[in-house]
Amino acid sequence: MAAEPFRPAEAIPHREPARLDTLTPEERSARMALVRSRDTKPELRVRRFLHGRGLRYRLHQRVAGARPDLVFPARRTVVFVHGCIWHRHPDPACPLTRTPKSRTEFWTAKFAENVARDARQQAALEAAGWRVLVIWECETGDAARLAGLARAIAGDGRDRERDAAE
Ligand SMILES: [Zn+2]
Repeated sequence: MAAEPFRPAEAIPHREPARLDTLTPEERSARMALVRSRDTKPELRVRRFLHGRGLRYRLHQRVAGARPDLVFPARRTVVFVHGCIWHRHPDPACPLTRTPKSRTEFWTAKFAENVARDARQQAALEAAGWRVLVIWECETGDAARLAGLARAIAGDGRDRERDAAE
């Protein structure tokens, strides 16, 4: 009789967000802190892509009371790379957005605060004359979506050298 094939734990696919409701409170807050951290994989993917397109940016600079992930000062443009769970990607086709099944009320309130804060920050940035672009975590693996973002950033007709020189 053949033995079960050995399957290292690393080979078993799992999605972190799906496990939120199985964590202890300590593990959960550690996980949520991770979700909120900077220099996340989606953010690095966006940075690499834009850098490859010759776009130069500043990271996490404070602008109009917000701290966008990428700031293009000469283009008066900021980019947020939003985690789909934490910032509630409104696209019903989003494969990542979900709400933990335990403490649902707590999470629903928390997420609502995040969405309200995002809206406030976007309004403040726009009032200060900044263009606000958002790319969602689930879109950062999509080359066409990244190319669209690069075009949106560069599309105001100003040359790239200005940003590069800053
Ligand atoms: Zn999404």
